[in-house]
Amino acid sequence: MPDIYPSFYHEFRCIANRCEDSCCKDWDIDLDSETEAFYRTVQGPLGDKMRAFAVTDEYGERVFPATEGRCPFWNKDMLCDIFIGVGEEHLSKTCADFPRVAVNYDDFCEHILSFACPEAARFMLRHSREAYADFGGEQELHTCENSDDFMSFLLKARERTLDLLLDDREPFAIRLADCLEFNAQVQSLLRGEEPSPLCLDNTESSGDSFIFDMHLRFEIMSDAWKSALEETVRHAELLNVRADFACDFEKFALYYVYRYYLEAIHSGDVLYSIQRIVCAYIVTGKMDALFAAKDYPYPRMRILQRYSKEVEHSYDNTEALNAAFDTDKRFTAENLMALLENSI
Ligand code: SF4
Repeated sequence: MPDIYPSFYHEFRCIANRCEDSCCKDWDIDLDSETEAFYRTVQGPLGDKMRAFAVTDEYGERVFPATEGRCPFWNKDMLCDIFIGVGEEHLSKTCADFPRVAVNYDDFCEHILSFACPEAARFMLRHSREAYADFGGEQELHTCENSDDFMSFLLKARERTLDLLLDDREPFAIRLADCLEFNAQVQSLLRGEEPSPLCLDNTESSGDSFIFDMHLRFEIMSDAWKSALEETVRHAELLNVRADFACDFEKFALYYVYRYYLEAIHSGDVLYSIQRIVCAYIVTGKMDALFAAKDYPYPRMRILQRYSKEVEHSYDNTEALNAAFDTDKRFTAENLMALLENSI
């Protein structure tokens, strides 16, 4: 089975206690069964603490829950007591892998770094599409054409989506609108319907406040993110996404399409990932405009990285967005398209 990587993947190194937003912060730490079985055998105070902290979470998974917003084994020097006490080889799979993500599609496996890690986010903001040259290439197409027509259809639709997204002859909002329209047509094909241009005549809303309202209702982990979001909401009507924001956001969108578009192989829905990118663009773009006026007390990279951590990496928040796309007319492709076109 081919393994596909972006060119920078193997250069990544965790910067540990120099990290401005550690993966040991805010999240519960998943415990795979092999790791937990080893932790049951560890003697002394460290072993006692491992056994005392391991619990089953609301999804039935074994975890070390975040305690006062941090992993209970992340010490005051911002180093890991488990790494120090029993060695790197006994970190849980989640800790050992993050921010490396492997998405296995049976015929091939795509590897990517998560934008929720600041150091990985810096890597991705430095690299353009060329870094993903092996994705969707001959190797993947050849492998899946032999076994699964739907996957080769999705790979080609993903390539077309990326061509539209990265066509810098257009303003970024228009490129996003084009991606919505193209994928609405792909979605019609998947439903067995004749694709037709989207009609924007009867769209539901002229503003984007419903997107901010939704994000305010989300489960939020960080107080800094919450107050940044609340301040953005207070000024949202007066804020416009800056033209230079597109240069960085398109890297986030590129990552997002590579990470999520092919989920349609299971969900049958190619629009979800594009609708989520549009919501991310509006929220982070306006937050960026707010902070640009204050000389970036919260840098642009951190805005995108934190969005990834707060929204993209939250199962509940992502599900809430997907549910809104299914049931709330303000989130339809037509309405989001009208919103983007009116923002120019
Ligand atoms: S978020 Fe990334 S750089 Fe920071 S501690 Fe985790 S893996 Fe290392």
